[in-house]
This record gives sequence, structure tokens and C-alpha cells, in this order.
Amino acid sequence: MVSGEWPERPPEARYAAVINDRGAERVRGGHPWIYGTDILGWEPESPAAAVLTAGVRDRRGHELGTADRSPQSKIQLRMLTRAAGVTVDRAFLRTRLREALTYRQKLVHDSEAYRLVSSEGDGLPGLIVDRYGDALAFQTLSWAMAARQAEILEELKGLLAPSIIVERNEARVRVQEGLEQRAGLIEGATSTVEVQVNGLRLAMDLLGGQKTGGFLDQRENWKAAAGYAQALGCRKALDVFTYQGGFALHLTRTGVAVQAVDSSRPALEAAERNGERNGFPAIDWVEANAFDLLRDYDQRGERFDCIVLDPPAFAKSRAALKTAAAGYKEINLRALKLLAPGGLLVTCSCSHHLSEAHLLEILADAARDARREVRVLERRGQAPDHPVVLGFPESAYLKCVVAAVR
Ligand code: SAH
Repeated sequence: MVSGEWPERPPEARYAAVINDRGAERVRGGHPWIYGTDILGWEPESPAAAVLTAGVRDRRGHELGTADRSPQSKIQLRMLTRAAGVTVDRAFLRTRLREALTYRQKLVHDSEAYRLVSSEGDGLPGLIVDRYGDALAFQTLSWAMAARQAEILEELKGLLAPSIIVERNEARVRVQEGLEQRAGLIEGATSTVEVQVNGLRLAMDLLGGQKTGGFLDQRENWKAAAGYAQALGCRKALDVFTYQGGFALHLTRTGVAVQAVDSSRPALEAAERNGERNGFPAIDWVEANAFDLLRDYDQRGERFDCIVLDPPAFAKSRAALKTAAAGYKEINLRALKLLAPGGLLVTCSCSHHLSEAHLLEILADAARDARREVRVLERRGQAPDHPVVLGFPESAYLKCVVAAVR
């Protein structure tokens, strides 16, 4: 392959999937996924193995756009464009990457770290690129995007000239796409970088950390939580599931005394270093199982003015929703009991299977059991560099409810 050229592939516009009415309705409503069960057939024939994209048509022959193929997955097609006559080539990719960057330059403030490409949210399904200053961490999570990996990296180098590039392709969804799981440093000497986020200096390990190093989707919520804590005059806060101290550091900065809990020792060690780096050595970092700790504190009658709950996704699938709901209820119930009157609760869920309405229902249920009145101050989501696409509910995964508790 000549560098800078697409590898030789069959002419892709030749093939089109014909999809049933249900699939066509979903696509017209903004959803980018087409399941194999909604594909009626192919015209003129089923594409050859190496074909990355295909046209999409409804039963009446109306063109719906062009999609990436995932021959091994239940999700067989992911829409790339709904415009007619678009060739998905290197120039298309370059344009999408540039658009993604421009969008962030307009909408991300006060942070060197952000999600540069958010998969379907940027019209590049299966591609995640996180930027940490001049370092990039990427994931190619669909078969077609993985096939373009080399070209994507070349484009990113042309766009940003990163000094560090980290591949985080260990995600399990890659197996469903028939791809191997792997992670590694592709360019640069180290995977740990220091970036400025909301005026704080944070170290992130793009290779060893959770996600691609940090929970960038919570970036604006860290700031918002601290703002509310200050407004309500909170003095003592508990940050549960703190990871590397995102909420804790922001709360501390407003003068609140913070205890921060996580079950991961490496995360807490990184959090503590972040605290020291920013001149906040007083945060009390506690290694514990959050469920046990909240129960103990409840029994001991501990009180806090502010509690943040940001658990990992308890509902990893729709089937797990019931057990997950019980978990969310338990931590929210305990937190409500631990809050002093007038206290602030910031409760999050990053599971897209659990809707915001469901989270609020669970919270209402917990409030009834705890006999507390909850006033919702704000319902928040993920930072705008993780765009929510209307008609694609899966893209609205992070919920963050800010509430005052009487
Ligand atoms: N609040 C963080 C992100 C939290 S991610 C931020 O804004 O950056 C979820 C965290 O929960 C992870 O760090 C994980 O180690 C921790 N965790 C998972 N299960 C836990 C448990 N049972 N008790 C305590 N921490 C847990």
C-alpha cells in the first residue's frame, strides 16, 4: 500500500442492502444502526468480504444513505452519511475528522483533554479518539473502522502532529466484530501525560488508566458539582467512586473538606498525586467497597453536606437492569440517609440501559424509603464533546442528577 492511499478495495458503491420497514423507520428517525434481522437482501448481490461500506435502500428502492459494514456482528450496518452520492474515501474521513476538531474548538472550554471523535456522535461510527494535550488515545470498535486504522492515524498525525499515540483496543465489543483485542503505545516514549482541565493539572495514564485515561465525559459535571456545593455552603463532602479524584479535587478547591472513596488502590494513588500536584494534600482518600462503606456510615450515623455517587455501569445489558436498579437504589438510599438537611446529592449513572426517567424513579423510591424530600436542581449529561444524537438513545448514556435534599 502506498502511504496516503486507500488500500485497494472493490468499488463499494456497487452494493446496497435492502432493509425492511422497521429498519428503514429507525434509520429515518435518526438511528444509525441496522441489524442483520432487518436486512431483506442485497443488490445486486451480497458484497465481497473486503467491502467496507454499502448503500442502504428501503423496500421501495429509496436511498437512505451509505453505511459501514460489520459482517460478523448483529449490527450489520452503521450509517456514515444520509446524503446521496457520497463516496466514503480518504477525503470523506479527513473532512469528518476536521469537523470533529472544529466542533471541539468551539464547544470545549478550559480543557486540554476532551473526546475528539465520539463515534456515531461525529458520523464516524466505531471510532473513538480522545485528546490529552498533544497525546491521543484511540479505539476502533467496528470492523470497517478497524480496517481503516492506518489511514485514520495518518490523518490524525496530519491534523494534530501528536507526540504520543496510544491504542486502547482491548474492548470486548471488538470480539463481536471479529477483531482481536489489543492495547499499546504506538508512538511516543510514555503513555502518562499531564493536562490542564478546568484549571487543574491532572496526570492521566492513557494506557494503564480506565477508559482511555480519564472520565472526560464528567468534566463539566465536576465543575458544576463544585459550584452547587459552594452555593449551598457545603462544608463536608463524600465523593463515592472517585477514581482519580475528578469530583473530589473540584470540591476541595471550593473549600469543602472531602473524603473520597474507591475500591481501586492504583486509582486512589493517582488521585492522591493529583491532589498534591494541585496543592490539595488534605483530601482523605479511602480504599473501600462503596456498598460496605455507605452501610457502615449509615449505621454509625455519619453526616455529610454533599455526596457524589458516580458508580461504574451497573447495568451492562438490558437483562442486568433489574439487579442494577437494586444497586442504584441501595447507594442512593444510603446517601440520602447520610445527607444533612439542606445537603447536596450529585447522583450519576453511565449505563445507557438505565434512562434518566428510570434513575429519577429510583431516586424517588429511595427518597420515600429514607423519608427525605428531594428537589432536583439540575439534570445533566455528558460533556458536549460526547454528543448526544437525537433518535439514537444509546448515545445519551451519562446521567447526572443534582439535587438538594431536605
Ligand atoms: N467519579 C469518577 C469516575 C468513576 S468510575 C470521575 O468522575 O472521574 C467508577 C469507579 O468506581 C472506578 O474508579 C472503580 O474503581 C470504582 N468502583 C467500582 N466498584 C466499586 C465499589 N464496589 N466500591 C468502590 N469503588 C468501586
